Amino acid sequence: MAYQNLDVMFGGGNGILTDDIRQHFNQNGTTLFSNDRNALLNYEGEGKVWALFGDGAMTYDLDRNPEKAPSLAEMTDKALQLLSKKENGFFLMVEGSHVDWAAHANDAAAVIHEFLAFDEAVGKVMDFAQNDGNTAVVILSDHATGGLSIGSRNCSGSSSLSLEDLFGAVSNYKISASGLESILVNTKPDEIKSVFKEYTDVEITDEEMQTLLSSKNYKEGDYTQVGTSENLAHNIVKILNARTCFGFTTGSHTGEEVLLASYHPQGDILKGNVTNRGVNEYLQKVAGLEISLQDLSDSIFAKHQDVFAGMNYSIDKQDPDFPVLKVKKGRNTLEIKAFSSVAKLNGKSFDLGSVIVYIDKNDTFYLPVHLKEKL
Ligand SMILES: [Zn+2]
Repeated sequence: MAYQNLDVMFGGGNGILTDDIRQHFNQNGTTLFSNDRNALLNYEGEGKVWALFGDGAMTYDLDRNPEKAPSLAEMTDKALQLLSKKENGFFLMVEGSHVDWAAHANDAAAVIHEFLAFDEAVGKVMDFAQNDGNTAVVILSDHATGGLSIGSRNCSGSSSLSLEDLFGAVSNYKISASGLESILVNTKPDEIKSVFKEYTDVEITDEEMQTLLSSKNYKEGDYTQVGTSENLAHNIVKILNARTCFGFTTGSHTGEEVLLASYHPQGDILKGNVTNRGVNEYLQKVAGLEISLQDLSDSIFAKHQDVFAGMNYSIDKQDPDFPVLKVKKGRNTLEIKAFSSVAKLNGKSFDLGSVIVYIDKNDTFYLPVHLKEKL
């Protein structure tokens, strides 16, 4: 993403920035804000902007400190404000990515709050699009997760359940299970009951207390496994879910059809049962792409063996994570580094306009066809 020369990029991930990325940002005029919500929200400049919050992923919206980290809606609003200055229009992707993470964890309260945060962001987008009159919006997910249902075997007589029966308990959950986990690992055993109640209004039983204590020091590193392993966060989730009428079938992704909604100023919207390829065709159409995405891919991501056929090339794997393709013709040497958008001709850097992909399985670089004209 760092080498795609994006105009705006807001999210988590300070901890994975490299010196090379920072240098690239300096060279291509990208302003980088780290853990600085006010600087982002007050930014009025023209250039490219990145704003990252936290070392890895951002926290769940339920656990977010609103003074330190922006909401998805705030980031969306700022992105629209900056991108709408572009004369040739823009494409913005806003991902409510933690809906998926919370569902992996079977954490109903976190799922609900992530959806609400996403819904608020969609509201900002719709306000913009309806006002602008020249913007199409597509709202969809790539899959579902967790098999979440409203109604479970915890709650019989589903037809007579009240709003309070269905949503009363979850409305009192003020923190995600993983947020509560990070508090409980630093809580003395004799205070666990009161801390648990403070954040969830749940009075845990002695048996549940024992389960929490026996799982206390076990943290699952892989978020896709959280929903199915007996770690502390999952045992918290089990205690919370036992007081609700929500059901989950898995800690993984599920195969049901997912929501697709769209808006278009002249009403040319997606309707019915649409495949992922249909969505792609629609996006190409409304974006007014003059060249099909397939043709574009073929010209930007061509195999190096084809592009440089008959030329003298070799792959330098001194740094196995970032191999470098070296092509020689006459006195010219072209150096192309994997996963970068910057290449070198006779030692001098130039921008490629897209990112070079390298696949180790077939030892192949995928790069712009026009690169051979450099030699
Ligand atoms: Zn997932």
